[in-house]
Amino acid sequence: MSDLVPGTAVVIAPGVRRLVAPNPGMMTGPGTNTYLVGENEVAVIDPGPAIAAHLDAIQDQSPGPVRWILVTHTHPDHSPAAMPLAEKTGAELMGIPAPEGKVQDKTFKPDRRLGDGDLLETAEFVLRAVHTPGHASNHLCYRHEAQRMLFTGDHIMSGSTVVIDPPDGDMKHYLESLERLKDLGLASLAPGHGPVIDEPMEVVDWLINHRLKREARVIAAIEAHPDQTLWDLTPHVYEDVDKKLHRLASRSLLAHLLKLETEKRAVCDAGKWSLL
Ligand SMILES: [Zn+2]
Repeated sequence: MSDLVPGTAVVIAPGVRRLVAPNPGMMTGPGTNTYLVGENEVAVIDPGPAIAAHLDAIQDQSPGPVRWILVTHTHPDHSPAAMPLAEKTGAELMGIPAPEGKVQDKTFKPDRRLGDGDLLETAEFVLRAVHTPGHASNHLCYRHEAQRMLFTGDHIMSGSTVVIDPPDGDMKHYLESLERLKDLGLASLAPGHGPVIDEPMEVVDWLINHRLKREARVIAAIEAHPDQTLWDLTPHVYEDVDKKLHRLASRSLLAHLLKLETEKRAVCDAGKWSLL
């Protein structure tokens, strides 16, 4: 973990560097990871927050000129540096624009809107976009084809689970997007926060299992306490979580409940939940 400090890029694979942004915190861990891919011409994945020192560090630490900027999603810790970096470098901006919602970086305007399977092909490397809605509806992961490394943004982060905050966050889509990773033949995951993950499938399985275990607790809680509101159900489902985090946890609970509603396993009537 000691190299997860801002300012100095660290080589994590041939032709791949990680530069941590100076925005550590509860939601960002050691800070957002910005990745620099390539040696002669560089693609920046997730330039991070628009902090002047970080923008300078990206250019200083990049081994070659920045030609492309790819964004995994438009949360404020991942994409706001994209526009200023593009202005400084003339790089092409790639990703999916921000959806509706308050916690979205609306400044991000891609030159090239990417979809699932789209490629960035350069002389040195190929990156493939993988649409992974769930944490955010416009979330893309990027697969480094030669390294079989997936840049996961906030689809998977090291050391903790990600927030699924409806309506843009969607638990059903999230689980489907985790399942998809199993078919990509991955050797490693380079997350938006924290160190590289070298056992990708173990982590994917653990995350799916973790969410399904929580879902089972949601069902058990409604069974034991039918016709309760989201807020009343929260302590029953998250007994193991500090009360200070219950407001955040209630957003995840809502995501679970909406998944069950979509699957016709639960129903909400006048704000109160029951099983079908
Ligand atoms: Zn995010």
